[in-house]
Amino acid sequence: MTITDSNRAGQDFQCSLQSLEPSLFEEFLPLAAIATTPLGAKRLQVLTELLQTTLWVPASVTSESPCIQVYQKPLQDHLAQLWDQQKSLVFCLTTGAVVRLIAPLLQNKETDPAVVVVDEAGKFVISLCGGHQGGADRLTQLIALQIGATPVLTGASNRLGLPGIDALGLPYGWTKGEGDWTGVSAAIARQDPVQVIQETGSTLWQSHLPKHHSFQFGFPEFTATVREEGLEPTARVWISAIQRRFAPDSSKVQWHPRVLWVGIGCERGTSKALIEQAIQEVFAAHHLAEGAIAGIATIDLKADEAGLLDFCRDWPRQAPKDRALPLKCFSAEDLRTVSVPTPSDVVEAEVGTPSVAEAAALLAANFVTNGAETKLLDPNLPSAPHPPLLIPKQIVRQAGQPGAVTIAVAQSPQEYTGRTGKLWLVGIGPGELAQITPAAQSAIAHADVVIGYSLYVDLVAPILRPGQIVEALPITQERQRAERAIQLANWGLTVAVISSGDCGIYGMAGLVLEELRAQEWTGTPDVQVFPGITALQATAARVGAPLMHDFCAISLSDLLTPWEVIEKRLTAAAQADFVTALYNPKSQTRTGQIAIAQQIFLQHRDRATPVALVRSAYRPDEEIRFTTLEKLLDEPIDMLTTVLIGNQSTQMYCDRMITPRGYLGFGR
Ligand code: SAH
Repeated sequence: MTITDSNRAGQDFQCSLQSLEPSLFEEFLPLAAIATTPLGAKRLQVLTELLQTTLWVPASVTSESPCIQVYQKPLQDHLAQLWDQQKSLVFCLTTGAVVRLIAPLLQNKETDPAVVVVDEAGKFVISLCGGHQGGADRLTQLIALQIGATPVLTGASNRLGLPGIDALGLPYGWTKGEGDWTGVSAAIARQDPVQVIQETGSTLWQSHLPKHHSFQFGFPEFTATVREEGLEPTARVWISAIQRRFAPDSSKVQWHPRVLWVGIGCERGTSKALIEQAIQEVFAAHHLAEGAIAGIATIDLKADEAGLLDFCRDWPRQAPKDRALPLKCFSAEDLRTVSVPTPSDVVEAEVGTPSVAEAAALLAANFVTNGAETKLLDPNLPSAPHPPLLIPKQIVRQAGQPGAVTIAVAQSPQEYTGRTGKLWLVGIGPGELAQITPAAQSAIAHADVVIGYSLYVDLVAPILRPGQIVEALPITQERQRAERAIQLANWGLTVAVISSGDCGIYGMAGLVLEELRAQEWTGTPDVQVFPGITALQATAARVGAPLMHDFCAISLSDLLTPWEVIEKRLTAAAQADFVTALYNPKSQTRTGQIAIAQQIFLQHRDRATPVALVRSAYRPDEEIRFTTLEKLLDEPIDMLTTVLIGNQSTQMYCDRMITPRGYLGFGR
């Protein structure tokens, strides 16, 4: 058999998948796909070709695609080999078969890959397991959006509109600590009261919970009435730098935001083993969680210290495997500026600063270091700097080991996310979900944070996902929106900034890029623009085919552009016989410009030139009116309207506006 199936469903599937952004899938890689029939292989082939990952098929299915490989052993054995190496597995098989195949391989939610099943008809994408931590829910949503299928998510948090408790800290780079994750997840699913004690880390998630949730924050008074009314929490979530020990079925869990900067001074040649042991000892003695380590800080003389470099590279035991610890090095000059509890004359004589470990820990804790950038902590996020030293310097030696290690720990008010932020500038089209490109829908569904004007946020509400941080700001605060987005992306989050229509046409894309340039951006956070259907196209589509000849768009808003410039452009467009779309034609306070525009066009075009006025295209309150250049002002026009002025050959026919291209001989 060969994969030559050319049924229409297959072709549609292929077409829609071509618009995927491969970068959306980064966190799900390595990903392997498995199909056992030609149609199944065809369903998954577009995905694996896009991501350049392998699609495994049996020998009975053949294909020319470079991504397809044949498995020789029984599928069960082959899967056993793939299991440990993949972050995600996508099957096109019946769920029953997949359940039987993976059953012997399942170990626990922390290490199992995300498993997603696509049905052969391409109608459903099912998140089978690895729903939260494994990311199967998000991968399912991404694939479903792209193929126009229905995502099937059965997690309770999805039903309740809550972030999965075992995925809660992922956007902020928190380390998942020990605890009874199953017990706490079950309590949340039952909507039992769950106590949350958050001692550190971002509280952004708390302010974006749905209205009806069962979390209780802090230590409320547990009075007799509370008990009688069944409001006493049955489970507890700690978010803290402290390491707590729980019994396996305690209904308690802990997340560790990475807030601890470990300052280290060491003699030349100190081994990685001694550094590791020193940190373990100091952390155990003070009940600190190693998962809360943000990074290591030292003097620049130690930037090439082999033991330190090895320790950072081989870290971590607890955070995701692909993250090394950052090593922040400061000059003696900078270290000298920090006042510390335990300065040393000996150290000063040796390296030119009275403190290395304490001063470096304190300096690092005042900076946020994400990607390649080091920036002074942002005072707005989430609290002001100047942290105290948590552990003053401790000296650790070990008989038989060379060298000695000095350790101090400072706690930063803001966690280190260890993630490189992304800014996605997304156009959501004129106002109907179906008019948003699949790529833009994926970006919105996938982002950690969605920022936009409240009306647009409401429009995309059906594709938002539980646990997303959604910040809707009033329409006038464009700059604040851009600055906020950049701030969160600098911190390591993936932020989607949404604009109506196209993001780069009188939208947020230009503003965000200008702000970035003003901040001397050098490429981090990563920026991607997702195009959308602009008002000009939406309006044209609603009235016929008015843009078949050369056209232009002019905004009549003189808030940011001097009116003389706008007038000059109106004159040029009118003279050059462009079909012209007027954006922002009139507001409550800006009423005169549309009349001037009309006068300019009347100097160069016939009074009877067709004009279309489209208000709220593709929205429930859409209104379409046709008029002529002469009567333009008799019609209602407002900020939700686009005015489309035809050229000299534009005509009306059966309530359609047509600008001839010339095929039938009457074009220009
Ligand atoms: N980025 C948007 C334009 C924003 S400027 C885009 O690409 O479409 C705002 C102006 O766009 C409005 O004053 C109106 O003239 C036009 N506009 C936006 N959405 C519209 C819609 N759904 N119907 C008609 N005009 C619209």
